[in-house]
Amino acid sequence: MRMRALLSTVGLILVVLTADVLAATEVRSVRLWRAPDNTRLVFDLSGPVQHSVFTLTAPNRLVIDVSGAQLATRLDQLSLSNTPITAIRSAQRTPTDLRLVLDLSAMVSPKSFTLAPNQQYGNRLVVDLFDDVSAAVNSTTTAAAGSAQSGTPTPPVVAPVTPPPSVPATATKLPPVPGGKRDIVIAIDAGHGGEDPGALGPNRSVFEKNVTLAIARELQRQINAEKGFRGELVRTGDYFIPLRKRTEIARKKGADLFISIHADAAPRSSAFGASVFALSERGATSETARWLADSENQSDLIGGAGNVSLDDKDRMLAGVLLDLSMTASLSSSLNVGQKVLSHMGSITPLHKRRVEQAGFMVLKSPDIPSILVETGFISNPNEAKKLASSSHQQALARSITTGVRQFFHQNPPPGTYIASQRDAGRIAPGPREHVVTPGESLALIAQRYQVGLAALRSVNSLKTDTIKVGQVLSIPATALAAQP
Ligand SMILES: [Zn+2]
Repeated sequence: MRMRALLSTVGLILVVLTADVLAATEVRSVRLWRAPDNTRLVFDLSGPVQHSVFTLTAPNRLVIDVSGAQLATRLDQLSLSNTPITAIRSAQRTPTDLRLVLDLSAMVSPKSFTLAPNQQYGNRLVVDLFDDVSAAVNSTTTAAAGSAQSGTPTPPVVAPVTPPPSVPATATKLPPVPGGKRDIVIAIDAGHGGEDPGALGPNRSVFEKNVTLAIARELQRQINAEKGFRGELVRTGDYFIPLRKRTEIARKKGADLFISIHADAAPRSSAFGASVFALSERGATSETARWLADSENQSDLIGGAGNVSLDDKDRMLAGVLLDLSMTASLSSSLNVGQKVLSHMGSITPLHKRRVEQAGFMVLKSPDIPSILVETGFISNPNEAKKLASSSHQQALARSITTGVRQFFHQNPPPGTYIASQRDAGRIAPGPREHVVTPGESLALIAQRYQVGLAALRSVNSLKTDTIKVGQVLSIPATALAAQP
């Protein structure tokens, strides 16, 4: 009898506890990252939530309503410097409905979404505040979209009264350099950033995101010191950029080459060595399909931001052209990758001696040759220490710069300073090269470089037209091209 009473009491307590847990998800911590054009707030949650986001003006505010949630952290410890946020306030509207109000110094365009748990984090609510003030007029749409998720009624959104202070210029095309001798542009992408630390060194001593940014900055410095070259950083600080956005930034900067810098991690702490990756053919093929399917990306290409102009071609032809363009840049990727890898081999052990190929999303840019450099294993205590040292970072950057210079001296894009130097005979880097990719024939390669088939055969001492995937072919100079 006593036992039954006790059990039912325990049962009652359990019911109460469960109800309490179900009722309120805890907002356990808040993290903030500042990027050049946006501010990201990440709320770490004890479970999933419904939410809505809307803006108010006079004064400018952003309201985040989180239903079924309670605040279980402090908001006054966030560093708000360089952000449009001047203060964050909270109010518990009901025991389970949390309202967060951000006081803003300038109108922002908000975007919000929730994320399911992954290996590193639990449930999260992400709120991005985009600085682009011209987009503020669209805040009604954003607010409506946000509240649609939660099902709560949308409070009235007051349209911004004050005109935006300044509309940032969106330069998508670089001004031509007088004489048509532009710089060769190298987009340098420091992997990870912000809430994505990447691989972690032993005892979280070294973060991949910091190592990659340090190497990227050094690489930019060295590339800028080379006449005829310009390095552009894709990520300039400690913030997250989605993979797709990274190649988009590179394209906007007019990149001739995209280099993504990373440091590996492996379950075995003894794993070591650097490696260089290019996109796999399989990835290339399916990505062509994806590019065609994705109307936004396609319009980006059609808009002339890339080197491929498709506006006057029909869809079928567009597919073929994109495929060709992708294969051509893959060959260049393998070529430059191999040069970078061999120079790296003289300053650090290599994990693999050949350029590896994988379906990395960050490499899937059809018109820009792209490589991903794994500078070493951050999970290896020895390499982690080296990777964190500025002398080793400099040496790594030096070997990458040397490989890049060598590749572009052999294959200068037309209209560049390097091409003009080469044409004037001031640099003699040897013949252009082509790395054979699957499905290519000697005739196709001759056609692509507009050189005679006989000249191509003779320069490479080929007795037959049989070529192998991965084979490096010399491409004869244009003077020979006239020969049939
Ligand atoms: Zn990485």
